[in-house]
Amino acid sequence: MYNRRDFLKQSALLGAATMLPFQAASAAKKTPAKKTPVKKPDTYTVNMNHIRAVPIPPRQIIIPDVEGFKVLKGDFHIHTIFSDGNVTPDERVADAVQNGLDVISITDHFECSPNIYQSKRWNIATHKDANYNIAYEAAKPDADKQNLLLVRGGEITKDMPPGHFNTLFTEDNNAIGAVLSDWRKMLQVAADQGAFLLWNHPGWEAQIGNGGALRFTEIHEEIYKKGWMHGIEIFNWEEYYPIVSDWCNEHDLALFANSDIHPTELEAYGVQSTLRPITLVLAKERSVESVKEAMFAKRTIAWADGLLWGRDPWLPALFKASVVIKTITPGVLELTNISSLPVSVTMGGAVIELPKDRSRRVYRADGVNKITVANWMVGMNKPLEIDSVN
Ligand SMILES: [Zn+2]
Ligand SMILES: [Zn+2]
Repeated sequence: MYNRRDFLKQSALLGAATMLPFQAASAAKKTPAKKTPVKKPDTYTVNMNHIRAVPIPPRQIIIPDVEGFKVLKGDFHIHTIFSDGNVTPDERVADAVQNGLDVISITDHFECSPNIYQSKRWNIATHKDANYNIAYEAAKPDADKQNLLLVRGGEITKDMPPGHFNTLFTEDNNAIGAVLSDWRKMLQVAADQGAFLLWNHPGWEAQIGNGGALRFTEIHEEIYKKGWMHGIEIFNWEEYYPIVSDWCNEHDLALFANSDIHPTELEAYGVQSTLRPITLVLAKERSVESVKEAMFAKRTIAWADGLLWGRDPWLPALFKASVVIKTITPGVLELTNISSLPVSVTMGGAVIELPKDRSRRVYRADGVNKITVANWMVGMNKPLEIDSVN
């Protein structure tokens, strides 16, 4: 398996050895020998002693507290070898730490774990022998050691509708795995355990069919009314479903940006990529209990690919905490981004990027009272607007 450690090793070696003996040999073979005696290729000695893999430090994501809440970085949709992922639970923990995350949930499919995959790999014959808690149990010691919060979870995997639902903060996944044939029962058992239920990738074309469009179907209304839906993914893997922003506003649901990662982190996103989705959680403290409380209170913000999607009042509150606005004159404002979040404000068509710790000025025409934050969204086609007059 090609993993991050191999990658680090290889990148450290690149550039250090420009031509190794085997390369010199193959280059020499291409030269026609003719009648001249075959000359032995030159060989080079490369001193490898000074070469060592330089570890990349974990990604630092700086976000100030928001109205007393800590802003935790999370990914609540992750697969491992205990369903159809390629990576072990401990590797997921290491990747999460490397990417600056505070909290993750491993959400292996109930339906292809363990009968299809585990039975082949670990010779587990039937569902009766299944342990649907296995990924959580395997990851927990590493997560504890590395101070990463770990949420027990799973993914109910059905055709649309209802599609796929993550069950987060479950107490015992085996009780859900015991009622596999009936998705309503699965959601009910999870809800009875106090789980947070998340509708995943509502726009995935494999599920909505050719020519299909994203729809909040009658089945989803039923699920919502029964209290079995608490959030929806607006971003999954590398896909956006902007309408989800409106659905969440209309139904009072939490927004999520999750990876749904199956291969290695390196294969999926590369090293510390900004494309990598993160769900920000505004939590009272850095604990699993607090993350759960925050999610049920809908204090989440989806961040992926340079965009943030959130709901009122938390997205404006995050902006207020992250960007300091100083009035130079009534018409001139100086904005400073003190966070790692991408900020791009527009005024009259001018786009003003604000990377971390960068200050830039905005020049306001008389009567223009709003600044638009182009990459922070509060609804579909609806960027956040902030007052430009203090
Ligand atoms: Zn899924
Ligand atoms: Zn998934």
